[in-house]
Amino acid sequence: MYVMETYKRLPVRFVKGEGVYLYDDQGRKYLDFLAGIAVNALGYADPELTKAICDQAQSLLHISNLFENPWQEDLAKELVDSFWTSGKVFFCNSGAEANEGAIKLVRRYFYEKGEKRYRIITFYSSFHGRTFGAMSATAQEKIQKGFEPLLEGFDYAELNNFDSVLRALKKETAGIMLEVIHGEGGIKEAEGEFLQKIQELCRKEGLLLIVDEVQTGIGRTGKFYAYEHYSLQPDIITLAKGLGGGVPIGAVLAKDEVAKAFKAGSHGSTFGGNPLACRASMVVVRRVRELLPQVQRVGEYFKRKLQELGVGKVRGKGLMLGLELERNCSELVQKALEKGLVINCTAEKVLRFVPPLIVEEKHIDQAIEILRHIL
Ligand code: PLP
Repeated sequence: MYVMETYKRLPVRFVKGEGVYLYDDQGRKYLDFLAGIAVNALGYADPELTKAICDQAQSLLHISNLFENPWQEDLAKELVDSFWTSGKVFFCNSGAEANEGAIKLVRRYFYEKGEKRYRIITFYSSFHGRTFGAMSATAQEKIQKGFEPLLEGFDYAELNNFDSVLRALKKETAGIMLEVIHGEGGIKEAEGEFLQKIQELCRKEGLLLIVDEVQTGIGRTGKFYAYEHYSLQPDIITLAKGLGGGVPIGAVLAKDEVAKAFKAGSHGSTFGGNPLACRASMVVVRRVRELLPQVQRVGEYFKRKLQELGVGKVRGKGLMLGLELERNCSELVQKALEKGLVINCTAEKVLRFVPPLIVEEKHIDQAIEILRHIL
């Protein structure tokens, strides 16, 4: 009654979770294949994550970014050294904020170089968030409608259509921003050849490549960062969702040469990377690294089982899978819920599956049984 109606909420009230299961206020148990929309990487009530959060809450929840923050240093080192070449990290609180930071960093990088480049090419059916920059980058009418005028400086192209990218290119183009798998857009995968051409174009034209890993990152697709599947070399990547395993945190990672465009005072966030969020994230990142072989194995098993259902096109990688049906799927989400399975419908006809990364084959079997039943 007092909360704005920005979401159409399903009639269920979850009160606790354990592993890959959720429980409602009637004591009913649900298998969760949504994980807070690709957030709860370690599932619910993970003992190690819970302990880290409790310990940190007992000593220091928050300090300003005006002071030294060793938790940020440790987490940034882990994100860069273990998985990237070299670079630096800016911490924020969400995916939209991470993309805002990335857009600002691109502009600032070219400003520092004395070049008048600020435009960014993005893609139809992408999703980058709801703030003004991120929304303007999101080439979807339903997201932007009624909020015009949008932020200037975005040119839209079609995923897997390189000619459309060339058509969008202007002398002020500064970068190309993409998701290697469109999450909200319906689990649409970029093709390897297309991505290689994008990479070559960026090198040739001196453009920055920004990969939005907010949904695909932190092990979701079976590699720590999804761009690794395609041997891309992004200049900037953005993270959020799974990064904190349920504690809000976002991050912008940038190569050293790009990162140095942000100086003291260029950008900031009161909460970004506070001790609680970083401490939680450190547990998630380390654990996800160990989970990667399991994500690959279980993901392949799940994909095969979905294909065997023979009811639609199956897309995606690891534990980010979509099943495209020939009809609107929102009603199926309700039916699945009644049978004790939490899923989600995106882009109208695509059932999206993004379970916690701890999910095992036995849980896949349970979910497939429910899906077989409702489909
Ligand atoms: N980028 C991608 C690829 C996303 O999937 C999302 C959220 O769904 C966002 C950005 C926005 O993240 P947030 O909702 O944390 O602002």
